[in-house]
Amino acid sequence: MTKYISQLNEAQQEPVFQKDGPMIIIAGAGSGKTRVLTVRISYLMSLGVDAFNILALTFTNKAAREMKKRISDIVGSNEAKNLWMGTFHSVFAKILRIEAEKLGYPSNFTIYDSQDSVRLISAIIKEMQLDKDIYKPKQVFSRISSYKNSLITVKAYFNNPELMEADAMSKKPRLGEIYANYVERCFKSGAMDFDDLLLKTNELLNRFPDVLAKYQDRFRYILVDEYQDTNHSQYLIVRALSDKFQNICVVGDDAQSIYAFRGANINNILNFQKDYDNVQTYRLEQNYRSTKNIVEAANSIIDKNKTKLEKVVWTANDYGPKVKVHRSITDGEEGRFVASEIFEVKMNQQMHNGQFAVLYRTNAQSRAIEDALRKKDIPYRIYGGLSFYQRKEIKDVLCYLRLVINPKDEEALVRVINYPARGIGDTTVEKLTIAANHYKRSIFEVMENIDKIDLKLNSGTKTKLEDFVNMIKSFQIINESQDAFYLAEHVTKKTGLVQELKKDGTPEGIARLENIEELLNGIKDFTEGQKEVDGARGALSEFLEDVALATDLDKDTGDDDRVALMTIHLAKGLEFPYVFIVGLEEDLFPSAMSLNTRSELEEERRLFYVALTRAEHQAYLTYAQSRYRWGKLTDAEPSRFIEEIKDEYLEYMNPAENTGYRYKPTIDLDIFGDIDKSKLRTTKPVSGTPPKRYGEEPVSSLNIRKLKPVNSSTSNSNTNLFDSKLTVGNIVMHERFGKGEILNLEGVGADKKAEIKFDVGGIKKLLLKFAKLEVI
Ligand code: ATP
Ligand code: MG
Repeated sequence: MTKYISQLNEAQQEPVFQKDGPMIIIAGAGSGKTRVLTVRISYLMSLGVDAFNILALTFTNKAAREMKKRISDIVGSNEAKNLWMGTFHSVFAKILRIEAEKLGYPSNFTIYDSQDSVRLISAIIKEMQLDKDIYKPKQVFSRISSYKNSLITVKAYFNNPELMEADAMSKKPRLGEIYANYVERCFKSGAMDFDDLLLKTNELLNRFPDVLAKYQDRFRYILVDEYQDTNHSQYLIVRALSDKFQNICVVGDDAQSIYAFRGANINNILNFQKDYDNVQTYRLEQNYRSTKNIVEAANSIIDKNKTKLEKVVWTANDYGPKVKVHRSITDGEEGRFVASEIFEVKMNQQMHNGQFAVLYRTNAQSRAIEDALRKKDIPYRIYGGLSFYQRKEIKDVLCYLRLVINPKDEEALVRVINYPARGIGDTTVEKLTIAANHYKRSIFEVMENIDKIDLKLNSGTKTKLEDFVNMIKSFQIINESQDAFYLAEHVTKKTGLVQELKKDGTPEGIARLENIEELLNGIKDFTEGQKEVDGARGALSEFLEDVALATDLDKDTGDDDRVALMTIHLAKGLEFPYVFIVGLEEDLFPSAMSLNTRSELEEERRLFYVALTRAEHQAYLTYAQSRYRWGKLTDAEPSRFIEEIKDEYLEYMNPAENTGYRYKPTIDLDIFGDIDKSKLRTTKPVSGTPPKRYGEEPVSSLNIRKLKPVNSSTSNSNTNLFDSKLTVGNIVMHERFGKGEILNLEGVGADKKAEIKFDVGGIKKLLLKFAKLEVI
């Protein structure tokens, strides 16, 4: 133990040594907050605190697993096994299972993911005959979610004229009704959504003092990482549980609060001192993660925020290379830059894929990066986005499995009742839904009693419904004695899912089959793992719980070497030697939606701070001058965040023309080929105060699509490079259209055109000087 403590600096040791009482560690990125939590938990255990009495809440389950592993290294795995560690959602889902019946839920309640929730809300909107262009299901869902996270129940909503008025003002006067319907339908289905896991925990702790007392007694030491991003609902849970012993240790960084849009409340950290008596506050100042250049660049940016706690972050690490800034013409080119830079660094610096991360503001940006990485054969992994478990075929299997555990689960039932097709049509499902709503029962229960209810179904349909019910019941019987793998394999066969995909025979169908196989492999892993740990059966219910709560980050086994692609939000708490922050453009990052108020802009800036501080050795900031957004090529200006960083920490990679300003967003002429540069000067070099952000006309005024290439026989352009290589029959790759075969070539010089048959999109005629083709 002493060894691990001695590896901490003095400021880090102090909070480790404080055994009892409320404490908060506020410190900048990379200063060892998470590490202190790890050592502190080990130290508590070495003092004799029972692992069962410690609760640690982390941002991802992966973080929890890593922490547990480190603690195992220090105190031994037998002890560490008993720690309660995980995200708020996973820890409280476990507690809710134990206590569910008190709240009227079955202990086998289903956890709806956001896809299930949005689907249910869409159905409700349709049933209520509302306009889905006004009541957009995703928007309605996020509104309901924010009510839940602020503990505004349906009842509280209807008691609050202000909220109702606000929804009415935004043309959604019936939002409350949707909310009420949604809650009722979830309840009837024996399902909780993600927000319910917190809301219902609060309800449990409020309504049942004996339950509260039990868990207060159990969790005598509570530790919370990333406290700045807890929402009101989470805050109240921590508050309630720690109220008796007040042994609460939270760590966080107000400068990294990036979830306000989801209800996280930065005041939780600012007000901590007021919430408890005799709070000890610790500050850590030394950053161990990053080079001086990165730390200083990050400091210079966060300085621009007005709302912040003043703190010092410094590092004894080397200066390291400067933060590199790179400009591209298009997002496609940006992707290629990232890929070739990774390629080169790997070669020259002996790095491996896992040491690189590409971070972006929105998921949609990954496409251009992916394309470029694929072309260079660089393996990558996308975190977030559509995860494995949300793929159609996987969800189909999972929904059958969910029904086995909880036949009331309406979303699961509706999804698979007629897939693979078994002659149960939409009208029948509608009738069942109406009956279920009428009797306040689940659809499955209606189906079980189909003989007693007159739904005007013909006898053939009734038989099909009975067959379905019997099939699910037969699975339930198997589930009582067999493990999850056995059952899952049986289900995929007996339901006809596998046959359906085999019959399909298309490459997509085969890929889907492989995915199902992969799912079965995963279930096998799970059951084997469970058997090893405590001789348990590897029950299906536990597997489904794991899946319901899995985020992509959690599934990272860490054993394959891939470049990591993720949104900045997901990158919180992580670190990589090389980090690319891409798409640094106005209206993208900062996001156009965040430019209305100072506080929104400051949240974007904190997000940028989080991104930059993930880098250990080298950070790259890249932007494109034009980008496909919403299907249209849009001009873009460099993000203000680049300008806000002090110049001394930056290195501009593109050669700048000498204007006296930092760099010039002029057009990189190369890709256009035969262009007479002298005719293209759109701006004069200026001196004195820059008229626009970079002392140049905004990039947006240099509409690159308007530029006309000049026919010139003395061209030394790159286009000739493509041009000379191409012959009919070549298979080529085009940036946007993908793979195609050259059918014909015509014209000469700058007018040379190719007729290409693309795998997707058919035959197109392209001017070679524009079409950036690569022969493959
Ligand atoms: P973030 O705010 O990004 O979550 P953090 O404050 O939690 O960062 P850690 O992730 O705990 O910081 O630590 C950052 C890095 O510095 C880790 O690689 C950690 O192992 C290392 N580190 C922390 N403290 C020390 C120390 N005293 N000596 C050496 N390395 C340290
Ligand atoms: Mg951390």
